Amino acid sequence: MYVSDCISINESGHLTVGGADTVELAKQYGTPAYVFDENEIRKNLREFKKSIDEHYGGNGHVSYASKAFCCKEMCRICMSEGAGIDVVSGGELYTALSVGFPSEDIIFHGNNKTPAELEAAVDNNVGRIVVDNITELEMLNKIAAERGKTAGIMFRIKPGIDAHTHDFIKTGQIDSKFGFALETGEAMQAVKAALSMTNVKLRGLHCHIGSQIFDIDPFELAAKVMLNLYKEIKAQTGVELAELNLGGGFGIKYLESECPKPYAEYMKNVSAVVKEQCESLGLKMPHILIEPGRSVVGAAGITLYTVGAVKEIPEIRTYVSVDGGMADNPRYALYHADYEVVCANKAAEERSETVTVAGKCCESGDLIQENTKLQPVKPGDILAVLSTGAYNYSMASNYNRIPKPPVIMVKDGEARIVVKRESYEHVAECDI
Ligand SMILES: *Cc1c(COP(=O)(O)O)cnc(C)c1O
Repeated sequence: MYVSDCISINESGHLTVGGADTVELAKQYGTPAYVFDENEIRKNLREFKKSIDEHYGGNGHVSYASKAFCCKEMCRICMSEGAGIDVVSGGELYTALSVGFPSEDIIFHGNNKTPAELEAAVDNNVGRIVVDNITELEMLNKIAAERGKTAGIMFRIKPGIDAHTHDFIKTGQIDSKFGFALETGEAMQAVKAALSMTNVKLRGLHCHIGSQIFDIDPFELAAKVMLNLYKEIKAQTGVELAELNLGGGFGIKYLESECPKPYAEYMKNVSAVVKEQCESLGLKMPHILIEPGRSVVGAAGITLYTVGAVKEIPEIRTYVSVDGGMADNPRYALYHADYEVVCANKAAEERSETVTVAGKCCESGDLIQENTKLQPVKPGDILAVLSTGAYNYSMASNYNRIPKPPVIMVKDGEARIVVKRESYEHVAECDI
């Protein structure tokens, strides 16, 4: 059931995260609650950075995709690790800026940034705005011109590689709402348009081929395709782009049975491809950016719940209901995401039952996991759902007017609150 190094079981038979007893945490902070191990997050960020140092001579940097888990403390952690940050909205940008994040190290993504978001990006001198379409390019050039500024940009390219989970396909990617297609020539047109504009500076191109990817080959192929385009751009315009952003999407362990490769493997292989490709195409080696999100925080976080009703439907299934659900973790409802579930106060016991863990929302689809192994539980037991660090807190809603749980950060066994639990007043705050 261990999905990461930060999860263990102590002498009392309780589940621990980052050395803290989760049963004690549930007592102290209440449930539901998100709990993260700060050392695990830092370790992951360092591993990515080290892989660039070791395999690509340090000519690159890590930009954490904050949509996976964004709050002020997470931005501070990235800042202190020397990582950059990706934002995809004015709200994420605001969060990063509010802790003094260096704007040069911020990358602004999104397929439909509003004028207000672009203005905020330019006003705050965001280092790289990843432009998604021609409408946005024209709007951005105008906004920057009005302010007498030059905006650093990259273009989002659809490299024609669609990597979902375990396999990938090389066609069909034209049908994506993100970015410029290669096949139609629109990517080249956009590059030429940007080079002719006075208030944008094209720093390089970007691609992001999917998420929760275990294979390395689609990343290698993406790097190749992108560098071929760099060569073509050089041939047609004489301009050699200095940076290459290869996105994120590295897979993490959700289930005991899964076995992702160490992240250094990724950089090792991709660096080799980039070197080879640059040599054969006569290109300088670009500065590389990578954008891990899930892989930085996913396995570093868990969610704690208290068991309420246990409903045994003979010969059908047993529902174990918890005091949270799709409002704090919509991923099962959205895409039947896998998780391991453990009874935190009986963690040393065998998970001998097969149950369905249900939430408390008024929606039949409000499940956390179906037919999953769990210790025999009763009302009042504490459940831990593992690997919920990514796309849980950040995707949480107030459905049923349920206040969002707090985020507890553990470091060396010591816990602190980094996001407070919402109150009913918070939930109704904007009501007139
Ligand atoms: C979501 C996203 C990422 C991060 O993806 P993960 O699967 O969480 O690593 C990186 N770059 C871009 C542009 C994204 O949209």
